Amino acid sequence: MRQKTKNSGKGGLKLILQFFGAAQTVTGSMHLVEANGHRVLLDCGMVQGKRQEARKLNSEFPFDVKSIDAVVLSHAHLDHSGKLPMLVKNGFDNSIFSTSATRDLCSAMLRDSASLQEMDTKYVNKINAENGLPFIKPLFTVHDVTTTLRLFQTVEYRRPLEILPGIRLTFRNAGHILGSATIALEIAEGRDEKLVTMLGFTGDLGRKGAAVVRDPETFARADVLITESTYGGRSHGPMNEAKEKLAGIVSETAHKGGLLIIPAFAVGRTQDVVYHLHELMESKQIPSMPVFVDSPLASNVTEIFRHHPECYDEETEQLLLQDGGKDPFGFDMLKYTRSTEESKALNNLRRPAIIISASGMCEGGRVLHHLRRNIGDPKTTVLFVGYQAENTLGRKLLQGDKIARIYGEEYEVRAGMEVIDGYSAHADEGELLDFIAAIPNKPARVFVVHGEPDAIKAVAAGLMRSGISNVAAPARGERFQI
Ligand SMILES: [Zn+2]
Ligand SMILES: [Zn+2]
Repeated sequence: MRQKTKNSGKGGLKLILQFFGAAQTVTGSMHLVEANGHRVLLDCGMVQGKRQEARKLNSEFPFDVKSIDAVVLSHAHLDHSGKLPMLVKNGFDNSIFSTSATRDLCSAMLRDSASLQEMDTKYVNKINAENGLPFIKPLFTVHDVTTTLRLFQTVEYRRPLEILPGIRLTFRNAGHILGSATIALEIAEGRDEKLVTMLGFTGDLGRKGAAVVRDPETFARADVLITESTYGGRSHGPMNEAKEKLAGIVSETAHKGGLLIIPAFAVGRTQDVVYHLHELMESKQIPSMPVFVDSPLASNVTEIFRHHPECYDEETEQLLLQDGGKDPFGFDMLKYTRSTEESKALNNLRRPAIIISASGMCEGGRVLHHLRRNIGDPKTTVLFVGYQAENTLGRKLLQGDKIARIYGEEYEVRAGMEVIDGYSAHADEGELLDFIAAIPNKPARVFVVHGEPDAIKAVAAGLMRSGISNVAAPARGERFQI
């Protein structure tokens, strides 16, 4: 595993990995690396899924928060960054390393998460009061987010930085969302610079050829690799197929005079879908109809995109930067709704229309209000464009549940459900295995995370076939000495 072996007399480098989240599941990404007497946390994500269980996992940490020397963040999605304010609230005050786009997105997304929690809490407490149930509190507030943002230190792609003595960090583009990075930690053994172990963490890995962000870049080397496996055992099909399918579903909505609800994270899928709707309407492949991006976040995100040309591909760069050029995330029929009043006004919307709203897995946010009001109408179609984790409302709807529980109340489901995997911000199994095969050396050990058990098994089997024999699928809390 090391570049060269030398008997240091101390038994060599002691590297310990412990997996606290996204272990045998998709959400709550959080892994602890111990090396050279330092403790580095990779990601600090929120768990989504069964409400009670998620709340418990999200409100505590399975380690001494004050013992963490640094956090390295792969990207801004809440299942990777959402517990940072909790970490800080519990006493962490060292640095959080991320790309600058991730920092800017976290600023918008964590504040949004705090205000959503405050709003959801009010709503739930109103219902709890009626039912004589105890009140709940938000996990963190906007104030906690402000304190967290002060700890960020930004590091650009391909600019190695020694974050702690003997630990050097390099970010590379992960092609997943704006600012997303793979993490390489170069861990030196003692003082000898030549004895290093390269630890690679894919974070969430994107697809080649996605509409907006750049393609993933491979690692220069990885002796130990932690890889995601979201779409293990599955294949997405080409991007243009996704666009064709979108055209079909939108045309059908127009035909029915119905409402198309697309639950999507404000960052990532929303921009890809908007980009394609724009192209399809302009080329008259779909009838013109109003499109609402109902998220106080999404309009800020377009602004953040403009400030980070290092993150998007050449096609998008040209659209965004040319003088008087088109805004790929804005067009005549598109409206971003920011205020709650504007959002509520969508209740009386003339059909056909399209509403894109978060959260992507229907676990909170404005999309729940749109679903609550429209899910009983057979003219409504709900289109899923992102991964739906186990036990989330999104997953249940996709599985065909006829009753939806929203804020503790039951609604009959009569809306149609559709899914397009091609918009996935995650590599499918083939793309993931190709990415790993392109690493110049063969990793000696691989840990498969961020997937449900079947997906993990499929990726592990693929890795074994490619000749990597030491593959583990860690359980939550499991500890490995390398
Ligand atoms: Zn992600
Ligand atoms: Zn993720």
